[in-house]
Amino acid sequence: MRAEHYVGGVFRADGPEFPLLSPVDGGQVGTVPEAGRATVDEAVAAARAALDGAWGAASPQDRAAALRRVADGIDRRFDEFVDAEVADTGKPRDLAATVDIPRAAGNFRAYADLLYGQAEQAYATAVPAWSGGGQALNYTVRRPLGVVAVISPWNLPLLLLTWKVAPALAAGNTVVAKPSEETPSTATLLARVIDEAGLPAGAFNLVHGHGADAAGAFLTEHPGVSAIAFTGESATGASIMRTAAKHVTPVSFELGGKNPALVFADADLDAAVDGTVASSFTHSGQICLCTERVYVERPVFDAFVARLGERARALRDYGPMISAGHRDKVLSYYRLAREEGATVVAGGGVPEFGDARDGGYYVEPTVLTGLPNTARTVREEIFGPVCHVAPFDTEDEALRLANDSPYGLAATVWTRDVSRAHRVAPRVEAGIVWVNGWNIRDLRTPFGGVKASGIGREGGQHSLDFFSEPVNVCVNL
Ligand code: NAD
Repeated sequence: MRAEHYVGGVFRADGPEFPLLSPVDGGQVGTVPEAGRATVDEAVAAARAALDGAWGAASPQDRAAALRRVADGIDRRFDEFVDAEVADTGKPRDLAATVDIPRAAGNFRAYADLLYGQAEQAYATAVPAWSGGGQALNYTVRRPLGVVAVISPWNLPLLLLTWKVAPALAAGNTVVAKPSEETPSTATLLARVIDEAGLPAGAFNLVHGHGADAAGAFLTEHPGVSAIAFTGESATGASIMRTAAKHVTPVSFELGGKNPALVFADADLDAAVDGTVASSFTHSGQICLCTERVYVERPVFDAFVARLGERARALRDYGPMISAGHRDKVLSYYRLAREEGATVVAGGGVPEFGDARDGGYYVEPTVLTGLPNTARTVREEIFGPVCHVAPFDTEDEALRLANDSPYGLAATVWTRDVSRAHRVAPRVEAGIVWVNGWNIRDLRTPFGGVKASGIGREGGQHSLDFFSEPVNVCVNL
């Protein structure tokens, strides 16, 4: 697919092109234009003009209707979206068809619905005698932030892009989006759908290209950008934050993780093993919510490790790493784990399929044991199909191990003891804690991380809160 920028309602492909490679077999599947500073400038100017023009003037009802037309447009082109997402990421078709694309349409519908539930408070206030006495009325209005820069990663390309674009537009902002350079195709299709849905030119703009010293940086350092919504690595977030500091630009960050699972001896072990297979190996571990650290209460540790290892070895139908570079990074952690003294229970290398996939960027689902919490393998985000399993003896020790991490995105607690579940869950340092499950999402709930895993919360009202500014008006009656 030929990716295109979308600036001020016009599709174009200016800038040098770079090839898009399939992670499945390394073959070229498309070309991507690299936006230079001038293209980014034009996109920000177009977004500013739409803010002062048709999109800024649109009522909440108009905006909600527009978001619904976008959702319908994604549904209409559903197969095209699935094909594009599978071609860019190599993820199993089933995953794209049941998670990525439906959730993208769902993001637009969810924020169209939420616009109708918006309420603000008003207060009748006594005016002090020294100010003339009588009554005043305080009420709050929300206004958009302005031009929002949305920067998204490659792992759930359309889902995570729309997770920010939909609430940003719902709140009345205009958007300049830059998707990952690895996965530009569904973003280009989204621009087509938005164009067909008749949103005013400039309400949504799309620029393609790389991050550092390129389109991503040109966008985040742009003085015309009013806020930055970013999902990606913590180190990238830190770098964007330094840039944002220059203009005190507000940021919402959804960053990396090193998510723990706590398996207590009283857990339903079948469910805990099934759940950990899903949480460690779905999308080959390339979901920010994936479990990379598993702590298991000692009486069931050996049984758990044996069963998880067996299940990991039996996995066949899994996707590749996104790129050769990412595969090499994951394999370097497999080597590091051995150097650090890990026992490799399953995987640890590169699979051989005997078909075209042998030219792709695959790594084996891997289960490790035997490392202390201080090992780099247990501290650093690998973002591949790998988890390390360690034993614990007490609830306090489990919590101490789980919380001994620079990250704090998500966690899972497996137990049949209701009291323990409620005791432990709020003490895990993470933004999202599941009990006896994983990745169950309601779009109204707060989503985000603590520590190096992010700043702020998105989801439902939380997104609308970030993407708008409350203004208090006080009328002296
Ligand atoms: P990344 O940080 O390398 O890139 C993300 C985006 O930022 C890309 O579009 C990239 O081009 C851009 N970028 C890179 N450097 C930039 C710079 N200096 N200025 C502006 N933009 C820049 O992340 P990735 O490899 O695409 O994605 C994987 C990471 O994302 C993992 O760490 C994962 O945990 C994280 N992630 C977090 C969540 C969450 O919700 N917390 C969700 C998905 C992924």
